[in-house]
Parts: sequence; structure tokens; C-alpha cells
Amino acid sequence: MTTCKRCILDSNTPGISIDPDTGWCQFCTGFTPPGEDERRRNADILNNFFSLPHRGGEYDVIVALSGGIDSSYALYHLKEQYYHLNILAVQFDNGFLSETALKNARMFCDLTDSTYYRLAVDQQELNNTFVRAASSRNVYSESAMHRASDICNTCIGILKQKIIELAMKTQAPAVVFAFSPGQTDAPFIVLTGSLLAWMRHLFDASLTTMGVTNRKPYLLDEGLIGDGSSQPEVVMIHPFLVWEYHKPDFKKRCRALGWIEPDLMDSNSSNCLLNTYAIKNHLEKYNIHPYASDLASLVRQGYMKREEALRILHKPLPEELIERVEKRLYDKEEW
Ligand SMILES: [Zn+2]
Repeated sequence: MTTCKRCILDSNTPGISIDPDTGWCQFCTGFTPPGEDERRRNADILNNFFSLPHRGGEYDVIVALSGGIDSSYALYHLKEQYYHLNILAVQFDNGFLSETALKNARMFCDLTDSTYYRLAVDQQELNNTFVRAASSRNVYSESAMHRASDICNTCIGILKQKIIELAMKTQAPAVVFAFSPGQTDAPFIVLTGSLLAWMRHLFDASLTTMGVTNRKPYLLDEGLIGDGSSQPEVVMIHPFLVWEYHKPDFKKRCRALGWIEPDLMDSNSSNCLLNTYAIKNHLEKYNIHPYASDLASLVRQGYMKREEALRILHKPLPEELIERVEKRLYDKEEW
């Protein structure tokens, strides 16, 4: 096995090749950092968007809030910069959130004067869906498989569909996801009717392949999409592709504001107990670590030191937590 000398991707991962001359993977070889002009342009777009006066809907923006560091900081920083915003913060309670994640989310809503909304679906059905995601193969695109585990892609897929639905119902013009610059490439995605119909179709197809029969509760209400025209319905914003992304600073800042660190023993997630099991499952099925691509990208873009990323990637997964999650998913035990 050869590991890229610049990032952390290795030749054992499917789809990764290391140039024997340079020692770099294909992503490092083809990488050009965004220029100053592009950064400034994106900052202007974001600033103009959020500086607009209230547009008459119930909320100005809906923020996906997991209660982890990134989303807690994103919510705080958004309100700090644009005090006039009327924010709805949505936490998807997938049944595996840590107690601290639930507390942190509520605390940051209080701090930012945001409305808290707990999104939940039938837990037993959701557990069965997670089991189907774990036992299925190749239900998501290859790029999605490198960005997140099958379980995470399912969970995020549901959240995306439902949060967009909420935005359309409440006439909120934007939804914010605090993805890291390693998890997504586009700072803004204008969701037109036709794009929404396409996203819904793709996710529905993945759920169908998994064998999920009752898919409606996980999908955007079809009636809201309308005629599938090219009119913008909602803008999806990834602020960490515009703001500086420096997790240690976010952590310091959040802690100073009262954010509580959960004891999950998981170096990849600070909020979801299912995550470690999802990583193990993904590694076993594809030999792809779902955080490798994200971490590699953060290293490449200069947001994280290579050694730190390697340490996170190779930290042993906590077996005890994995067993507890497995019991809950398969034996339907309570915690
Ligand atoms: Zn590389």
C-alpha cells in the first residue's frame, strides 16, 4: 500500500491511484486552490443574500443543526454576522443522537434566538431503513460513497428532503448545511423545481434499491415541486466554502459559549452514536473509509495538518459502542 505524500489517500482504497514519480494521488495532482477572485465573489454573494431585508416568509433561513461543532458554530456565526435573520434550526433526531448533541442544539438556539425544530420520523421504521442501508451495496453514486457511509448518506438524504420541504412550506428562501470544505464543492446550489424533482427521484431510487417500501415519509412532498419549472425555489448554502474553516478555532469558540463535548470516543463525529457503526460497515463493504476523502480534501486545501488527519483516520473504532448500536438496530433493544 502506498499513501499519497500530500494528502492521506492510499492505493488500497478503490479508485485511488498514486503516481509513482510524484507520490501524489490523482486528486492532489489535479488540485488548484480557489483564487482570491473566486473567494471574494462568493463572499459577496453570501453577504448580499443574507443582507436582504426580510422576504415575508416565516423564516429567512433554515439551518441544519446536528449539535456538533460545525453546525453549532455555523448557526452562531450566521446570527453574529446577520443579526436580523429570523432562523429556524432543524435537528434531525435519528434516535442515535448523543444527549449532549440534543442539549447543545437547544443551547445554541437560545444563544442565537433561533426557533428549534426537532425533526423525527417513525423510529422503528428508521432503524429498519438503517439496517437496509447497512446490508445494501452500491445504492449511491461512487462520489457519494467516497463522501459518506451508506448509513450517513441515507440519514442526510432524509434530512435534505425534509428540510427543503420545510423551507418550501414556510417560504424560507434558503437552507444552510454546515458541510466542511471536504464534504462538498459548491458554496451555493440554486434548487429549481426541476433540480428538486431530480434529487427526489435519485433518493427515491436509492431507497427503492435498498428495499424500503414506505418511502413517502423520507421524501419531499411531491405536490410542492409543482410543474418542475426552472424557477428557483430555495437556495442551498454551504457557508464553510465561503468562510474560513478552522475546526480547532470553532471548538474553542463553541466551548467558550457553553458547548459541551460528548464522550463518544469517535474522532469523526461529535454528535451521532450511529456514526462509528456506519464507518465500520462502510469499511467492511467497500474498503472505503467514509471520512478519508473529506480529511484528504481538508489537508489538500490547507485546513488541517496531514498528521492530524492520519491520526483521526487510523484511530481504532470503539468496539463497545459499535456493539451497542448493533444491538439496538438488530435486536431492537433500548439503550
Ligand atoms: Zn493526495
